[in-house]
Amino acid sequence: MAVGVLALQGSFNEHLAALRRIGVKGVEIRKAEQLDNITSLIIPGGESTTMAKLAELHNLFPALREFVRMGKPVWGTCAGLIFLADKAVGQKIGGQELVGGLDCTVHRNFFGSQIQSFEAELPVPELAAKEGGPSSFRGVFIRAPAILEVGPGVEVLASVSIKEGSAESESKVIVAVKQGNILATAFHPELTIDSRWHSYFMKMSPSNNEITAAGSSSNYYEDPESYLYNKQPKTDLPIYE
Ligand code: GLN
Repeated sequence: MAVGVLALQGSFNEHLAALRRIGVKGVEIRKAEQLDNITSLIIPGGESTTMAKLAELHNLFPALREFVRMGKPVWGTCAGLIFLADKAVGQKIGGQELVGGLDCTVHRNFFGSQIQSFEAELPVPELAAKEGGPSSFRGVFIRAPAILEVGPGVEVLASVSIKEGSAESESKVIVAVKQGNILATAFHPELTIDSRWHSYFMKMSPSNNEITAAGSSSNYYEDPESYLYNKQPKTDLPIYE
């Protein structure tokens, strides 16, 4: 069975390409019944209000909630993180429907507007311990949300340091978490050449362990023979197929 990528809106093609790079077949999900044929699901970044309206139009919310409740692995990136949060602030008037399941509060546009988008090197000890590679990950934040608070069952996987006010004091903002079957990142790993988050997510599905073990030899981050590896410096952004 394949990995599903919610394909209503946003960066679903980039996730499908990132999965292909680690040798995993992804399928586009637009209807509730398609969720029966996948082992795990990625909810991409995009615009969460628009995505929620489309999900409502296609009556997807009950099926998405059931998918999460069944304990199947689900990964939300950026707008996908907002979808999975139990509570969101900074929403448009009237709010928007959420899938929920992730015990946290997100701020929808924490870092500001589109032009305040940025990239940052994030320390990722847990990811590096599981997937190897460098101890940091290049996070691409596009009008990104942030996680304001998390419940006791939520593991923080990455934070970004931000300067506060005119003082030189720095504070840490949570940008990647895991809670059981749910993974959520405020940034966009599908826009970088570093496949470790995709590979990490694949390992959250017991039935995919074998595929991933085989696939890890073709995880192109680690494969100096691969075409992309030779064409692009490791930290160059972004990469599209
Ligand atoms: N902040 C955006 C929203 O509210 C999400 C941005 C993104 O997914 N790149 O939907």
